[in-house]
Amino acid sequence: MGQSDWRALLETTQQLATGYLEGLPDRRVGPTATLAELRAALHQPLLDEPVDALTVTHDLAAAADPGLMATPSSRFFGFVIGGAVPASVAADWLTTAWDQNAGLYAAAPAAMVAEEVAAGWLTDLLGLPASVSTGFVTGCQMANTTGLAAGRHAVLQRVGWDVETQGLAGSPGVRVVVGGERHATIDRALRLLGLGTKQVAVVPADGQGRMLADQLARVLDADDSTPTIVCAQLGNVNTGALDPIADIVELAHRRGAWVHVDGAFGLWAAASPSLAPLVAGAQGADSWATDAHKWLNVPYDSGLIFCADPAAHRAAMGVQASYLIHAEHQERDAMDFNPEFSRRARGFPVYAALRSLGRGGVADLVDRCCALARRFATALEAADGVEVCNDVVLNQVLVRFPGRDGDADRRTPAVVHAVQADGTCWLSGTVWQGRPAMRVSVSNWSTTPADVDRSVAAILRCAEAVG
Ligand SMILES: *Cc1c(COP(=O)(O)O)cnc(C)c1O
Repeated sequence: MGQSDWRALLETTQQLATGYLEGLPDRRVGPTATLAELRAALHQPLLDEPVDALTVTHDLAAAADPGLMATPSSRFFGFVIGGAVPASVAADWLTTAWDQNAGLYAAAPAAMVAEEVAAGWLTDLLGLPASVSTGFVTGCQMANTTGLAAGRHAVLQRVGWDVETQGLAGSPGVRVVVGGERHATIDRALRLLGLGTKQVAVVPADGQGRMLADQLARVLDADDSTPTIVCAQLGNVNTGALDPIADIVELAHRRGAWVHVDGAFGLWAAASPSLAPLVAGAQGADSWATDAHKWLNVPYDSGLIFCADPAAHRAAMGVQASYLIHAEHQERDAMDFNPEFSRRARGFPVYAALRSLGRGGVADLVDRCCALARRFATALEAADGVEVCNDVVLNQVLVRFPGRDGDADRRTPAVVHAVQADGTCWLSGTVWQGRPAMRVSVSNWSTTPADVDRSVAAILRCAEAVG
């Protein structure tokens, strides 16, 4: 492939990508193709002979297009996903072209320094202690895994057990205290760390999904000898509710426990002066997991782990091998802070997003999404036969459709389905504390009040049609 071929290929790619992004305002948000159609479109015999890159690119774009979920659309409200701010998309393209292996300073010096700078900005924006160590991981799943691995190291070390050399068999054991409405990734992280459900104590949550602090005290007091990790949550994936973090930190630390915070999106409240009081006290925790690909709006995949005990972080994640060239002076080797070995230089898009938004831009992004979530809630609640069933404290709204006969359990999933089929916006359903609900998550920098109004109209139209 010569230089002119690169140009033709990437100019075509640029046209395809900008065509997609510029078409978002008018595009149906959900996919149109069925599973069978996508299989038929993408299925090709793998030939013996090569196919030229331009053909591969054109064919891929054409076959994938009807199966794309318009996640970056300003009317995509599914999960807690969000789009990507333009500077981070551009940086992500460059990251691909540069093809750095960002495990070691020796292999990717600019990537390591961009991460170092971005880590400093993030620590400051999120109100964390300046001395924290930072890992750029694939998402909050791996951020939780990394933070809990550091916690497992620290709590066992305090009782004289080195888990990295001795493993868990024969150890004093680790007890993990979680909330009743924790995210599923906490359970998987614990499984990966050799901590089974029998080592997990569940503290009941209230109707919004917040861990009950008095119940936490009771659970902690029931066993004061086993090394303990407490997992708090900032931002319940359904309601957006935040655990009473200041109380949790105080109760846990009084008993020598490690506090891990799953703040996949809720930790970003700390970046907004108006919302920061919701997470006051979070800076006292020991590890914090969050996502950049959710509320910071960088492309997938991008999660972050911060640790107040850099030595525990490194003890859990550090790697040594004879052929690796490790940092000798002040350099930072990323592979000592995340579970990946070879890895994408995912700090570049984070750096670009932060620089382009600025401190005020991040706060504004978070504030705007919350204001638009309230706009959703107010408009839906005002309609007949619709109820909002959470306190809208952040960017999440849970909605039920009792209609005229009150049968919300039947009607709500049908409305979700109808809205997805309608295509004006896209959102999904859930079961909240035993009852079906529609989830609305406003997590995208480009969503406007007009998008919300148009989506509310579509939702109400669909509810009416479901009857
Ligand atoms: C999304 C989410 C996760 C998982 O994050 P990924 O980036 O998808 O791995 C964990 N915890 C909470 C509270 C979340 O909202």
